[in-house]
Amino acid sequence: MRTLYVRIIVMTMAIMIASALIAFAATNIYYQHFLKPENDKKVTHIAENIVDLFEENPNQSIADYLTAMTDLGYTFYLVTPEGDALTFGNPFSSEHLDKSHINHVFHGNTYHGIANYPWKPFVTGFFDNEVKNTIGVPIQVNGDTHALFVRPNSTQQFGEMRIFLAILLVLALLFSFLLVLTSSRYIVKPIKKLTEATRKIAAGNYHLKLDVNRKDEIGRLANDFSTMSSSLARTEEKRQEFVSNVSHEIQSPLTSIQGFSQALQEEEMSEAEQQRYLAIIESESKRLSALSKQLLTLSNLDSEVDINDFVPFDLTEQLKEVVLTMEWQWREKQIAIELDTPPTTIIGEPKLLQQVWVNLIANAIRYTDSGGKISIHTATDKSYVQVTVKDTGIGISEEDLPQLFDRFYKVDKARTRTENSTGLGLSIVKKIMEVHGGTIMVESELGKGSVFTVSLPQK
Ligand code: ADP
Repeated sequence: MRTLYVRIIVMTMAIMIASALIAFAATNIYYQHFLKPENDKKVTHIAENIVDLFEENPNQSIADYLTAMTDLGYTFYLVTPEGDALTFGNPFSSEHLDKSHINHVFHGNTYHGIANYPWKPFVTGFFDNEVKNTIGVPIQVNGDTHALFVRPNSTQQFGEMRIFLAILLVLALLFSFLLVLTSSRYIVKPIKKLTEATRKIAAGNYHLKLDVNRKDEIGRLANDFSTMSSSLARTEEKRQEFVSNVSHEIQSPLTSIQGFSQALQEEEMSEAEQQRYLAIIESESKRLSALSKQLLTLSNLDSEVDINDFVPFDLTEQLKEVVLTMEWQWREKQIAIELDTPPTTIIGEPKLLQQVWVNLIANAIRYTDSGGKISIHTATDKSYVQVTVKDTGIGISEEDLPQLFDRFYKVDKARTRTENSTGLGLSIVKKIMEVHGGTIMVESELGKGSVFTVSLPQK
């Protein structure tokens, strides 16, 4: 039973044989309980008619009379008062019959051998051609009581019918077997295709076309499988893009670190020049360190956030702390900060949400020129807490907005390079929002400023 195909065939054959056996047993039981008594009554009636017909005309020879009757489809077993037995018609397969039954008939009674014929499973007594399986009636021959046992000659009455039924059964079994052989292939074929497709996917080939045009479960499976393979293809593409972005981000600071340290070793330069080179090396390594930290945060967000770590905490306090820790940066740029937050409690992972405010406020400071303003507001309704970070900075063009939250997306490559930016900050914010079941939205106009709005559900 190694293939599904063989399994289906064996199973169907087993079911066919089992149902044939059950059907046979059921009809046999039906025969025993309903048909057998009916049959007994019918044959008794016929036997009585045969006796009446003979006794109306007693001068004829009993042997000639019974021989003529055999043509009507009956078999007879006649016992004379002396105990001699004569058979007319198809010979019985067994002539054994208890003496007591014969005497019973001699005494003027009827023997109901058909109704009392013993029940045997899987054998229909209907066809058992034995003297036991007969109706016995007394008959007067030349003034003496004889015992006449009668049963229908089933071979004569049903012979052709039996062959007909047997052929019908054999042909039905044969054709259903052939049809199962062919139809199972039809069922198994798409599964084979799917198996091949899984193998291809395992080997890394995600672009598959499965032409299974079925509407049933297998069709649906094939459809879901195609969807799964295209989603795997997309994930793989994203992964490759991510790896190439990461390598690129790592490569550029490393190249400049290598270049400047080589220059420091090989070239003669003034102290001031040396200090400048060292400062660049330091800032590039800081960039690398920030990048690796952010990558780590992203990967942790993919796997390690547990909803059970969510706790209620004071949002207002947290926002104040973030603004305070960044004081040096906004004061240096002479940016005014407006913090308008009524006391608000929020449910979430405090460290992650702190990261959200740090990223949004750092961006606002970074992309707002000296003398600008940043406003931070919170608002609460029944099921949401909203935090808005609004700046009067450089703004973002409409074309850039859709990609803003993509990993490594930077609007102004030249400016962000000097601003120590990685393009990961907003993708981290978006990921943290997803983890909390919240959303982030942005509205912006070039030259006027941007508004980032975070909505967090409060269960
Ligand atoms: P980065 O580390 O470069 O800041 P982000 O993902 O935080 O990465 O931001 C992606 C890009 O979105 C930035 O390069 C910047 O061009 C733009 N940006 C983000 N915040 C603002 C803002 N408040 N004003 C203008 N541009 C912004």
